Amino acid sequence: MHDRALVLFSGGQDSTTCLAWALDRFAHVETVGFDYGQRHAVELTQRPTVLAGLRAAFPAWRERLGDDHAVSMRELGQLSDTALTQAAEIRLGAAGLPNTFVPGRNLLFFTYAAAIAYRRDLTVLVGGMCETDYSGYPDCRDDSLKALQVALSLGMDRRVRMELPLMWLDKAATWALAQDLGGAALVEIIRRDTHSCYLGERTAHAWGAGCGHCPACELRAAGWARWQRTSPG
Ligand code: ZN
Repeated sequence: MHDRALVLFSGGQDSTTCLAWALDRFAHVETVGFDYGQRHAVELTQRPTVLAGLRAAFPAWRERLGDDHAVSMRELGQLSDTALTQAAEIRLGAAGLPNTFVPGRNLLFFTYAAAIAYRRDLTVLVGGMCETDYSGYPDCRDDSLKALQVALSLGMDRRVRMELPLMWLDKAATWALAQDLGGAALVEIIRRDTHSCYLGERTAHAWGAGCGHCPACELRAAGWARWQRTSPG
């Protein structure tokens, strides 16, 4: 409970759930967001809305929620030619990976986050990566991130603890976790204010805002429907 944490916070469903998870258990929580030239830059503009919503609805969390760090990583968009950073059709590539894969993205995010955490004396890094309902990105895998935790701890000569609370949850279970952490108020902030759509569209649906047909929207909509079917009440 005395730990100080830094949450990789994109403004999406998963990272907002992780932020709530961290606020529920750590004494002090800061956030970091990355601008890498993503097509769905609207998720960055949703971040302050989500943070304001959490502060307004949860006074205990407001006390623990500290600075929000914004990091520009435009180089990543220049280095990689993917459908997340270019206006290209989203499809499955030859290697079986969707062309929304930005090589090394999460490795870079955690490495940058570890540098901020070092300076800010934050001992825990929290990320919403998930190996259950995911697009097969190799840098979301538990083994990739555990290896990175070891590398960062050695390279910084300081214990870097990475927490990945969604790693083995599917999207329905992620909604259920939000319900457990913050009840209907948190579910509504996540449903209404977070952004997942790869195309950056904000058309309203029961499960939130988005285009409704990109892979991120399909995952989110399917998870919401499954949770609605199975949740009591
Ligand atoms: Zn979409």
